[in-house]
Amino acid sequence: MRLPLRPVSRLSACCCYRPAAFSRQFATAQSTGDAAAAAAASQQQKQKSQHPQTQQAQQRTQAAASDSRVHIVEVGPRDGLQNEKTAIPLATKIELIERLAKTGLGTIEVGSFVAPKWVPQMASSDEIMEHVLQHKISSPVPISYAFLVPNSRGLANATAILQQHADAYVAEVQQARELAESSGESSQAPVFKPAVELAVFAAATETFSQKNLNCDIATSLERFREVISAAKKIFPASVDGQPSPTPLRVRAYISVVLGCPFEGRNVDPKRVAQIATDLLEMGADEIALGDTTGMGTAPRTKELLRSVTAAGVRHEDVALHFHDTYGQALVNTAVGLEHGIRTYDSSVGGLGGCPYSPGATGNVATENMVYFLESLGMKTGVDLDAVADIGSWITGEIGKANDSSVGKAVLGSRSRL
Ligand SMILES: [Zn+2]
Repeated sequence: MRLPLRPVSRLSACCCYRPAAFSRQFATAQSTGDAAAAAAASQQQKQKSQHPQTQQAQQRTQAAASDSRVHIVEVGPRDGLQNEKTAIPLATKIELIERLAKTGLGTIEVGSFVAPKWVPQMASSDEIMEHVLQHKISSPVPISYAFLVPNSRGLANATAILQQHADAYVAEVQQARELAESSGESSQAPVFKPAVELAVFAAATETFSQKNLNCDIATSLERFREVISAAKKIFPASVDGQPSPTPLRVRAYISVVLGCPFEGRNVDPKRVAQIATDLLEMGADEIALGDTTGMGTAPRTKELLRSVTAAGVRHEDVALHFHDTYGQALVNTAVGLEHGIRTYDSSVGGLGGCPYSPGATGNVATENMVYFLESLGMKTGVDLDAVADIGSWITGEIGKANDSSVGKAVLGSRSRL
């Protein structure tokens, strides 16, 4: 496994943001009103900066996007649980992850390497990473486990664990599938090596960035440039013990893209698009647009996606992350589907909330998302019955109401049989 060439360290808080050459090119094209030139610049730069394997992965994603397959990213164990006030036992978190792994979900976000004093609930993320690497969690499909690494220190902590288990994971789920197929155990249930991916999170407004990350957006992006660059130097070991040619995938969140608890609903979609192109140019594989407050509406979701596309970001590089605070998450999902987006985040039982929006409900429930997508003829590969059971169980475990209307309906209809 290759490691960062030099020790990662905390960046200073001073702001010396210098846009990359691409950003300047993009800005010039934009200022001349030439959206097509901006899009071409983005595409050109992205192709240049992509690793061949990343391109292959994106071609696969592109193929998937052309049909009815939708990828659901389960964020319950991280986004869903991180704001819970009562400490949740590690055993409960692990049981949640292991149960979710059996439902057909392809990506589960399971931890965050953030300072425990800020998010105590995520203090066990190192043990969770050890667990998913050391235990062969059975699953019907290969799974990628995602961990947030908000800064260089978080990345260093994650890297230290990955280094100890370099042969226990792969960079992409496709490799896990190929490995399982080549193991010659086709008569039995295949055992997949887990993939691991890392995630950073920026904000779309200055106030949210200051409150959540203690720095302005420009400074946060400079930090992420270092984190993404270092993450892209992590290569799992391949079968022959040599480093895999594919580095870890990195997802980049942008929070409050459709409404900020401090600056209101009118978040500038062009600013979001600019941040997205900056993060892709830094090497991020995917941009997750987060409606953290659930203030998004269908028209503004459409406007946002148009802005992001006009900036040259491809549909297959975008995931949508809706909270259901105002009950608009599935309406906005429909807008995203129409726009060609095929990756959506959701949280079992509707777990989650926003610490800066008192009373805000959580992420859109995975049960609701699966039911909605399947009702449109889309394919999620997720076992709705199993997810409904997990939603009922985990909300009971942490003493919260089950926020999934579909989950409750599924359980209710079963009890009537
Ligand atoms: Zn969220």
